[in-house]
Amino acid sequence: MIIKDITDLIENIAPVHLQETYDNAGLIIGDKNSEINQILICLDITETILDEAIEKNCQLIISHHPLIFKGLKKINGNNSIEKIIIKAIKNNIAIYAAHTNLDNVINGVNSVLAEKLGLKNLRSLQPKKDIFRKLVFFCPVIHADKVRKAIFEAGAGQIGNYDSCSFNTEGEGSFKALENANPFVGEPRKLHFEKEIRIETIFPFYIENKVVEALLQAHPYEEVAYDIYKLENYFANIGSGIIGEIEEADETQFLSEIKKITSCKCIRHSNLSGKKIKNVAICGGSGSFLIKDAITAKTDIFITGDVKYHDFFEAENKILIADIGHFESEQFTKELLYTIITKKFPNFAVLISENNTNPIHYL
Ligand SMILES: [Zn+2]
Repeated sequence: MIIKDITDLIENIAPVHLQETYDNAGLIIGDKNSEINQILICLDITETILDEAIEKNCQLIISHHPLIFKGLKKINGNNSIEKIIIKAIKNNIAIYAAHTNLDNVINGVNSVLAEKLGLKNLRSLQPKKDIFRKLVFFCPVIHADKVRKAIFEAGAGQIGNYDSCSFNTEGEGSFKALENANPFVGEPRKLHFEKEIRIETIFPFYIENKVVEALLQAHPYEEVAYDIYKLENYFANIGSGIIGEIEEADETQFLSEIKKITSCKCIRHSNLSGKKIKNVAICGGSGSFLIKDAITAKTDIFITGDVKYHDFFEAENKILIADIGHFESEQFTKELLYTIITKKFPNFAVLISENNTNPIHYL
């Protein structure tokens, strides 16, 4: 097994292109072609975690939070990040992070907590737009199946729980081959009409090169006519936060349930209004930026971490804001990464760190 086998698997679910602009997800230290035989999974990279990896003979650490966020000009061991970098390289340990890219997919960080809390009908709280492109191309009728198959295999045509999605219209294309052309059909310098199919499909922007390459390779024409359009659509499966529904519950009853499931020591919450909880919004980590979205989505409670004093005022009795702690709201990400890897590679050694990296303690 090489590192790339594992990172490709994770990025198939959470492409790094879906990370936020401030983020630094992906392979941070190491060579993607290096051999590995054991992985350690954690939320944060600390020196204790690195020591655990060394002791347990793990060659790759996968964490949720990236070790490095900003550019470093010197690596002298003057702070804990620089020390970890030096020690990791000396010990031949690679470091990888699946951060906001794993937050922004429907089967990511938020879905694990959502499922544990019994939420149904999951969708993104703040869906993203500008993720998909529309591909339109024209293909001789008898070659349509082959070309369609090639672009679907390259990843085009996936919408939610469906794949191989396309729209096909028959028509007639015209062209006249000029000097130096080598036409697949028709004669040089003669206007030619050919029965063609206009095929329309979509793909996420980050696989554009792969899809266009598959199209050009499978298409029989010397010059392939194709268009790519930006789409303004929002897609319910990609975005920040998650929403879903539960069986109706009392506010305090549901808060106690959250406390039990997440083993959190304390929930900081806004005013109790006495309303029942049915629609639930979740954002693991620092989710205050989604309070307005959670209200607009008419959810009854917003569960997140890192809520500041003034943020609680935004509730205005329209929603119950519950701050369960940053670490507590993301703790199940370790399980998620473990499941993703062991489902595909059941015999590979994947360890979940035994160290609790939560820097916040409660008295
Ligand atoms: Zn976080």
